[in-house]
Amino acid sequence: MSCLFCKIIAGEIPSTKVYEDDQLVAFKDITPQAPLHVLIVPRKHIATLNDLEPGDDALVGAMTRRAAIIAKAHGFDSSGFRTVFNCNKDAGQAVFHIHLHVLAGRTLSWPPG
Ligand code: AMP
Ligand code: ZN
Repeated sequence: MSCLFCKIIAGEIPSTKVYEDDQLVAFKDITPQAPLHVLIVPRKHIATLNDLEPGDDALVGAMTRRAAIIAKAHGFDSSGFRTVFNCNKDAGQAVFHIHLHVLAGRTLSWPPG
């Protein structure tokens, strides 16, 4: 298994987990871009958003809903937070196992760079 996030999910590489269940794991980003920067990943290896199948709809929905729960748990539901999926080169995807960034705790500029 060569995937970094599969190794984190398996516990072979350490991470600071903030949530896990039978389908998702959430952990702190190692290079945080905001006071809260969590990555939510499915246990199932899916390389990019282009590889999603119809049967993954509930999984992606669970990731999105978990992002809101994690943001709220850290007190950022009212002040606001951002969720981001990067897909492939132009978006800067570096790890090819889908992950939802959850960013909060500062004013986030728009449009993104
Ligand atoms: P992306 O550019 O969307 O593929 O995001 C990959 C993210 O993974 C980046 O924000 C990295 O900081 C983060 N990252 C890389 N290695 C680790 C690691 N070992 N633990 C936690 N986050 C990581
Ligand atoms: Zn993987």
